Amino acid sequence: MNKALAKNMPATIQIDGSQGEGGGQILRTALALSMIRGQAFELINIRAGRKKPGLMRQHLVCVQASQQISQAYVQGAELHSQRLYFAPQHVQSGKYQFQIGSAGSTTLVLQTLLPALLLQNQASELTISGGTHNPLAPTADFIEQCFLPALKKLGIDTEFKLNKAGFFPIGAGEIYIKIQPWQHRNRLNLLDCGALQSIGAFAAVLNLSEKAQIVQRELATLNKRLKLDTQHQFHLNGISQGNTVYVKVECENHTQLFTSLGEIRKSAEQIANHLAEQVKQYMESSAAVDEYLADQLLLPLALGQGGEFTAQYISEHTRTQASMIEKFIECDIEFIELNKNLFQIKVNVES
Ligand code: AMP
Repeated sequence: MNKALAKNMPATIQIDGSQGEGGGQILRTALALSMIRGQAFELINIRAGRKKPGLMRQHLVCVQASQQISQAYVQGAELHSQRLYFAPQHVQSGKYQFQIGSAGSTTLVLQTLLPALLLQNQASELTISGGTHNPLAPTADFIEQCFLPALKKLGIDTEFKLNKAGFFPIGAGEIYIKIQPWQHRNRLNLLDCGALQSIGAFAAVLNLSEKAQIVQRELATLNKRLKLDTQHQFHLNGISQGNTVYVKVECENHTQLFTSLGEIRKSAEQIANHLAEQVKQYMESSAAVDEYLADQLLLPLALGQGGEFTAQYISEHTRTQASMIEKFIECDIEFIELNKNLFQIKVNVES
């Protein structure tokens, strides 16, 4: 698109990237909403709240991928850039491949493109390579077993596959998703996750010596702390090295995942104990979703029929996400504190 065309669009939305949480989520949400609304935005102070501010490779891929699916006119899409102008044309469903070229998170690229693609009339397929198990991002397991099943309740139909796992610093993982057009939009009512059905733990290593018995030690620690119903060692493919462990809490109305990644200077017991602590806190609160799924559900709810759910905690991410969504769409997001570990979140949309 040329600049003259961009000028015919509704007024450009101005966003200060240093607001609230000040991370990459502001950029990703702005891209997603801009493509959906056909509305240009200018983002300044990109990731000003982070140690290395500006666009990192993973953010740049989010911008480039969004540009590609919406034929957008873009300025400032360079590594370390702290200012971006993005003016989309129309979103085109199709088959796309994106390569992050580092261990940057593939799942965050997926979450940037998913909202715009599911609102198209045709299905889309994405293959994204890079990191699949990154700190500070949803792991591929979380996407497959927690985020996408929650979206299924809203009527969002996808097929997801982890083709290859990718851990920092090599990455070289790959995820695939097929996104069907969103036909029946359901309201979410998830105030209560219902009766507990089972707690299972899952652990895997990739290209690490079996001698250290990492998986066995993680599962044993989790079992001691959580009295698990099931324990599983699972297999990962790929060329990078790493360890991931997750706990799956299945309730009648919701499945919540808690994930952890192995770290060089931490023992398997430390990793598992930290994970067990998170699960215990969740089990003790009567919240349906954890702090991460809470911020990730807001946008799909605002694009659909809205709804309400309970969460353990309202993070700065969640608050920032709500204010970004309210900038682009007519909706009202309310946070009600029921007690210290229990919040009700209501997303009210114009019907
Ligand atoms: P940002 O820090 O702005 O790049 O955003 C990070 C995103 O990753 C947010 O949507 C978080 O909810 C999500 N996230 C971070 N850690 C986890 C985790 N352990 N499990 C699931 N999602 C996570």
